[in-house]
Amino acid sequence: MNTKESQELYKRALKVMVGGVNSPVRAFKSVGGTPLFIKRGMGSKIWDADDNEYTDYTCSWGAILLGHAHPDVVKASYEAMLNGSSFGAPTKTELQLAEAISESVTSAEMVRLVNSGTEATMTAIRLARGFTGRKGIVKFEGNYHGHSDSFLSKAGSGLATLGIPSSAGVPEGCVSDTVTLKYNDVDEFESFMDQRGKQVAAVIVEPVAGNMGVVPGDKGFLLSLRKKCSENSCILIFDEVISGFRVSKNGAQGLYGIYPDLTTFGKVIGGGFPIGAIAGKAEIMKHLAPEGPVYQAGTLAGNPVAAAAGLAVLSRLEDGLYDKMDEYGKSAESYIKSAARENGISVTVNRVGSMFSTFFTAQPVKSFGDVLNSKKDLYGKFFWSLIQNGIYAPPSPYESYFFTASHDETDLERLKCALEISFEALKNEQHIH
Ligand code: PMP
Repeated sequence: MNTKESQELYKRALKVMVGGVNSPVRAFKSVGGTPLFIKRGMGSKIWDADDNEYTDYTCSWGAILLGHAHPDVVKASYEAMLNGSSFGAPTKTELQLAEAISESVTSAEMVRLVNSGTEATMTAIRLARGFTGRKGIVKFEGNYHGHSDSFLSKAGSGLATLGIPSSAGVPEGCVSDTVTLKYNDVDEFESFMDQRGKQVAAVIVEPVAGNMGVVPGDKGFLLSLRKKCSENSCILIFDEVISGFRVSKNGAQGLYGIYPDLTTFGKVIGGGFPIGAIAGKAEIMKHLAPEGPVYQAGTLAGNPVAAAAGLAVLSRLEDGLYDKMDEYGKSAESYIKSAARENGISVTVNRVGSMFSTFFTAQPVKSFGDVLNSKKDLYGKFFWSLIQNGIYAPPSPYESYFFTASHDETDLERLKCALEISFEALKNEQHIH
């Protein structure tokens, strides 16, 4: 496989872009080798700088739902650009996008558009703190809510609970009110809330976690979050930056029938352009400036090009689209399981509709601890074998795979072959580790 051009670009990038990338996971650190520079995408396919073709299962980390360069998205964003790409004044397009989100998502009475998922979650907790007059934030191990300071407390250890930062540059004061509990652990959560619930401004959760691989929230766990937040008058935030408009038109909340007070969005609602949103109950949302005292602003917020692209996506979300992606997900799941079984490799596949991931373990994976107990060191070899067989998988064992509406039967066939070869490549490997 020729990757000469990618390697040269990476060498150049290392000189001027830190680590050669603009977001860390793109650097391929956990799979080894050098990153592939992507030149072009169309439908389910992408091409790297050396013209190698791949079926894409990373899909801009879930942001691409209809497929790359979808004609409706291209047309809408191009037409928007012809009229000017930013005004810093309200536009009809952003209004239409806010209406589309509100119509689709049961709990989204009002919407504020921002520029990234990070901004959305950062604003959501500020809003929750402003609304409740409390400081405490509860989050869960293995969940990711972007890179604002108060979320960067180390997940997974007792130290996290003490608010010791896991990123350099985050003062302890920024995370001292953040408590990290175990995902899907009802007992731990309830006993915490029974003791400290009245100090908690917000509980934030990925209802379907997608940042430690896919780990769906148990219904009982999410119900417990809803119940305890209501009892303690604190704000329940569903971070649906990945799951929003991905697992259903009504997000994960629609799938579970459990509704948060606030929801954060990103990815899909921008059709591949930078975007984020906070949405929720009007009585809470109205605490944002200019109606309320919680400040939030953005030069490019509600950008008309991103809004037009997002609107083009949301306008095409017929139910059939989710059914088709779910079918494809089901097929992928069965291919993985049978290829693994064929080669004597233990796997657990977690999947919600079009998002899925494979863990190298025979045990169920329901928490970050379970994720850490799987054999992550097998992933690098698996990843490179997939790449060599035309599958662009996420370059990290902690990320999820995605289907788009544009994947087709040929892609599935290609995936099946690539999986068979890649699991066979692992056959002797798993005894080594
Ligand atoms: N929340 C979740 C659940 C996410 O998956 C992400 C990004 N992967 C974010 C927040 C942060 O979004 P962004 O990268 O757009 O800042």
